[in-house]
Amino acid sequence: MLKQAWDLQLTDHQRSLLVLAKLNQQAASLTPDQQWRLRYLNAWEAMYESDYARSEKLFQDIIQHSGNPRLADRASSMLLSQYGLTRRYTEAFELADHLATRLPQITDAQVRFSLLLNLSQAMGSAGQIDLAVHYAHMAMAAVPVDGHMCYPVSELVDVLFNGHRLQPNSPELQQALAACPAASEPVYHTDLMLMLADLCAHDGEPREALALLDRLQSSVEANGYVPSKLSALGDRAWALAELGENDAARQAALAVVAQARSGDFGEFLKEPYEVLYRIEKKQGHAAAALDYHEKFAALDKAYLDDIHARALAYEAVQQHVLAQKLDTEKLSEQNTGLLAQQKLDAKTAEANRLYLVLLLMALGFAVVLMLRLKHSQLRFKRLSHLDGLTSIYNRQHFMDEAGRLLHQLERRKGMACLAIIDLDHFKRINDSHGHAMGDEVLCRVVGACKQHLRIVDLFGRLGGEEFGILLVDCSREQGIAIAERMRATIEATAVELDGVVVAVSTSVGLAFTDTDGHDLRNLCTAADAALYGAKRGGRNRVMAGAEDLAAV
Ligand code: GH3
Ligand code: MG
Ligand code: MG
Repeated sequence: MLKQAWDLQLTDHQRSLLVLAKLNQQAASLTPDQQWRLRYLNAWEAMYESDYARSEKLFQDIIQHSGNPRLADRASSMLLSQYGLTRRYTEAFELADHLATRLPQITDAQVRFSLLLNLSQAMGSAGQIDLAVHYAHMAMAAVPVDGHMCYPVSELVDVLFNGHRLQPNSPELQQALAACPAASEPVYHTDLMLMLADLCAHDGEPREALALLDRLQSSVEANGYVPSKLSALGDRAWALAELGENDAARQAALAVVAQARSGDFGEFLKEPYEVLYRIEKKQGHAAAALDYHEKFAALDKAYLDDIHARALAYEAVQQHVLAQKLDTEKLSEQNTGLLAQQKLDAKTAEANRLYLVLLLMALGFAVVLMLRLKHSQLRFKRLSHLDGLTSIYNRQHFMDEAGRLLHQLERRKGMACLAIIDLDHFKRINDSHGHAMGDEVLCRVVGACKQHLRIVDLFGRLGGEEFGILLVDCSREQGIAIAERMRATIEATAVELDGVVVAVSTSVGLAFTDTDGHDLRNLCTAADAALYGAKRGGRNRVMAGAEDLAAV
């Protein structure tokens, strides 16, 4: 019975209603799946009867709760068609867009076919005629085994008709009429014929139009499809008016007005009102003419507004879809950008750590190098200040330091004593015992002198076997005493090398700041003179300045 009702819907609508009524009586005894199929049939019928609120509720219920994808897709497809009919264009185009993206996944031939048809319808109502023609051709190529070529060809004709691209002799119209014979597809056949009648009526062939309408009269009634009825009556009114049969035309036009329920069938009222206006005007009924013209103008404006609204809704949905797509792309772009950035950051951090380690290593290396350099610099400097044999200051450094210290002492009026020590007959030691013994003697003499020096005193080798000592903060008496002690120690030292023992003595010349001043050169001259005195006086003695010299 379900199948029967389904098959009869468009072929014998009256019988399909009887079957449907019986099915609804037995609804409780049906399986859940059968109940959903019955609900679909009821929805279809509600839509056919223009009870759009009921049909939408039923279709939505099937889409959301049936759990039957095939039936749900079918319901979506029908709902799409209904949204177009009820001018809910935004919903229609959103659903169309959704279904168009689902199209590749819809493998059920029947569902795919009916969806293509409804997409064509939706695009047609959006004013997207080319797209609608494209979907209609797709549907023609996708007719299921048990399906009818009638539906897609009719859809194509419908699209062309609404797009004002159809003529009475268009091949598509002939093709459609051939594919939808009156016997098996009465509703479609009637509709196509009505289109032809409409084209004739508006194309200067009112007689042909009326002849067609007369022939169609009974099938229009039998089909019970309200839009067909209204369209037939409207075309009749138009054709009659064209022929100047004003009364008959008025009657037909008023019949449309009476039958069209307000709101839903506005598009069928525009023409009858235009007919009525023209007749009243022709007959000189100004007030009535004006009244009808106002109604016509309002409907015409509504019609144009509606076309505009469809185009706007379509554009809005397209923009919305595009924006969503761009958003998604942007998000994924941002995401990959972020990931790449994160990777880059991690790499940078790693590289930074590496750089830091390298930098620290380089820094550490540089510090070590610098320390070593400084160390060796200091060592070289120290070595450059020292005498190679005895490790006391060399002449240069001794003179520099002595000059600096004397300068300081002079400023704070401190006293100092300069001693120049020269070994006696050192040449003989060298000559008798060799240079090595001579060196040994030099070292031992230095050691002997150091015993009597403080840390502040300066001690340097002036050359050969001659030494200089600057005794800082030292009085003349202290200086003489220290020099004397050194001389005695050296005299008491027996230098031994390889079993050979030698004795050594020194002569010391002294100079003092209190008598010779703080100038180093003067002090040296004075000390030299004193030393010369000591040598002349017999060696192995300390000579302190002029008095001693005088004593010599
Ligand atoms: P005087 O008592 O008059 O000072 O006699 P002298 O022999 O000590 O003096 P002279 O100036 O004639 O001799 C100094 C010698 O010192 C000459 C030189 O060969 C020796 N001499 C100089 N420098 C060194 C040295 O570094 N090592 C050794 N072994 N001998 C040196
Ligand atoms: Mg000498
Ligand atoms: Mg000497």
